[in-house]
Amino acid sequence: MITRTDAEQLDQRDPLANYRQQFALPEQTIYLDGNSLGALPKRVKQRVSETVNQQWGNDLIGSWNTHQWVNLPQIVGEKIAPVIGAAKKQVICCDSISVNLFKLLSVAIQLNGSERRPYILSSHDNFPTDLYIAQGLQQQIGSTTCRFKDVAEEQLYDAINDEVAVVMVTEVNFRSGKRLDIKALTEKAHQHGALIIVDLAHSAGVMPIELDTWNVDFAVGCTYKYLNAGPGAPAFIYVNKRWHNKAQQPIAGWFGHKSPFDFDPTYAPDSGIKQYLAGTPAIISMAAVDSALDLFADLDLQHVRTKSIQLTTLFHQLIEQHELTEQLTLLSPTDASQRGSQLSYQHPQAYGLCQALIKRGVIADFRAPSYIRFGFAPLYNRHTDVYDAVNTLCEVLDNGEHLAIEWQTRQSVT
Ligand SMILES: *Cc1c(COP(=O)(O)O)cnc(C)c1O
Repeated sequence: MITRTDAEQLDQRDPLANYRQQFALPEQTIYLDGNSLGALPKRVKQRVSETVNQQWGNDLIGSWNTHQWVNLPQIVGEKIAPVIGAAKKQVICCDSISVNLFKLLSVAIQLNGSERRPYILSSHDNFPTDLYIAQGLQQQIGSTTCRFKDVAEEQLYDAINDEVAVVMVTEVNFRSGKRLDIKALTEKAHQHGALIIVDLAHSAGVMPIELDTWNVDFAVGCTYKYLNAGPGAPAFIYVNKRWHNKAQQPIAGWFGHKSPFDFDPTYAPDSGIKQYLAGTPAIISMAAVDSALDLFADLDLQHVRTKSIQLTTLFHQLIEQHELTEQLTLLSPTDASQRGSQLSYQHPQAYGLCQALIKRGVIADFRAPSYIRFGFAPLYNRHTDVYDAVNTLCEVLDNGEHLAIEWQTRQSVT
């Protein structure tokens, strides 16, 4: 029998306990949606205000030089690098995951696509934008040398063969929370002469990642989930050094030029990771990313992973203790080492359940057709939050609050 006192004791022993006070969280809210939009770090408030009021408001255009605006994509990239296991000069902050995937898939197909090796291989259950970008590229280049193929996630490893040009995979599945073995997939891809692109959307900032050690070719990830940089904050892109200067990314904008302020009419790409920039960076958002990343400077991601596993394990143990497993079917792996930092349950009224919880101050989210997701952010979620959230969940179900008529129509963002 797990009691609230047990949860309190886990919080007292938590080496990350002090991080919570770095976040501006609303009172009376248990926020279990950091896998979708990370909470607001207090320092980001201050930094955005300074960027707007002082740098833009007062220092105006000179800020491109004096406040390093022009170098922010690289500065931020170098802060992301250790979080994803990358040595210097391979990571840059820009655009969205969708746009960055377009750049990387194009490069990978240029490098490795041919009539005998046309496939972009991914899993059917990957995040839709990843699949759409691959489908769009096929339409643009033509299926002779660029052909999208998806297989069930369980078949992905076996489906890698000599006809695959590039494997596009997401480390942690957004729907189920299942975590794939990127090292093994990379090895298999390379044995067959394929390249690999890894999407780190649901892993960056919440677990150790070893892109260089795993020998990954390319990666993307976003900063607004576990990196807490705010809605629509720019994403990142990783290109392993061995692929610098080997192919040109297709959005040949002036910020990727080797010397943009020469205003040369002919494009000449920068020789390093900077080539992956396209247009003018979104400075206000990027300042937020820069500041949010300072929370990771002295952080041991192994501690983050350990706490993440404790939080998901505790949540599910409490679901079992309340005998809710008949109603809520766990979609995520039962073995904590096989999942990311979320738990997804299937429930016939998942949308109503999610809305009824939100009304009670427990924020989770709904994913069609019938899943409720709980994300656990070890930097600000406590064990007691987990305890209290499951209690609320139990009450909501007991009272039938999830069945209320008001939940019959869905809002546009779920
Ligand atoms: C959140 C997420 C995205 C989002 O892509 P954007 O282009 O940044 O909107 C992409 N892929 C995965 C796997 C995600 O989880």
